[in-house]
Amino acid sequence: MFSSSPSTDRPSSGPAFQADFGSGALFRRDGQRCAGLAVEFISSLQESVTECFGDDARDVLYRCGFEWGLKELLATTTKLLRDSSPQNVTLAQLEPKFALETWWRTMRETGHGLAKIDCSRDGRGIVVIDLRQCPAALATPIGSHPVCHYYAGLFAGALSFLDRAERHATEIQCRALGHSCCQFVVGPGSEVDAAEAARQQATPAVEILRRLT
Ligand SMILES: [Zn+2]
Repeated sequence: MFSSSPSTDRPSSGPAFQADFGSGALFRRDGQRCAGLAVEFISSLQESVTECFGDDARDVLYRCGFEWGLKELLATTTKLLRDSSPQNVTLAQLEPKFALETWWRTMRETGHGLAKIDCSRDGRGIVVIDLRQCPAALATPIGSHPVCHYYAGLFAGALSFLDRAERHATEIQCRALGHSCCQFVVGPGSEVDAAEAARQQATPAVEILRRLT
C-alpha cells in the first residue's frame, strides 16, 4: 500500500482560496471552483429540498453527496498517483486512509468540518467517520433525526470509489440531535442497513460500533 504520513492537523502551504476577480470566480487550492455560502443559505437549501421532494428529500441529498464524493476522490487520487514516487503506483495500492485524509484536508480548509477517519474495520469494508462542525448540522436546529444526508452520501461516494465496490453510509449520531459530533458508518449495504436499523431503535452509537467490530 502506498502512503505517506498525512496529518489532518498539518498546516497546508499557501492560501486555501484563490480569487479570479475578472470572472468573479473562487477556486480551492486544488483548482476546483467553489463558492462561499452563508449558514443561512445551507439551512434554506435543506428546507427547500425538503419542501420540494418531501419524504424523498433525504435520498436526493444523499445522492447529490454521493456523486460529488465520487468526483472528489477521482480528482484526489488522480493527483496523488500523478505526484507519487515511484511513478508506477496504482489506485489499488493507495492506502484508503491516506487518500481520504489527503482529500479531507482540502474539504476542511473550505469549511466542511473536522473529520476523524477510523479505518480499523477496513478488513470488513467498514470506515467510521466522526465529523465536527458539519455545516449541515450547524445550520439546523436541534431535532429528532440526523440531518447530514448530504455528507453521508459524500462519504459513501468517496469509499465506493476507493474500494471499487458500492458502499453505503448512514449517520448514527448527529450534532442536530444534540451529540458532540456527527458520526457516520460507511460500508457494505448489509452492515450499514443494520447500523441504521439499530439507530432507529435508539441504540447508542457506541453500541452500534461495538456490533461492527
Ligand atoms: Zn449530522
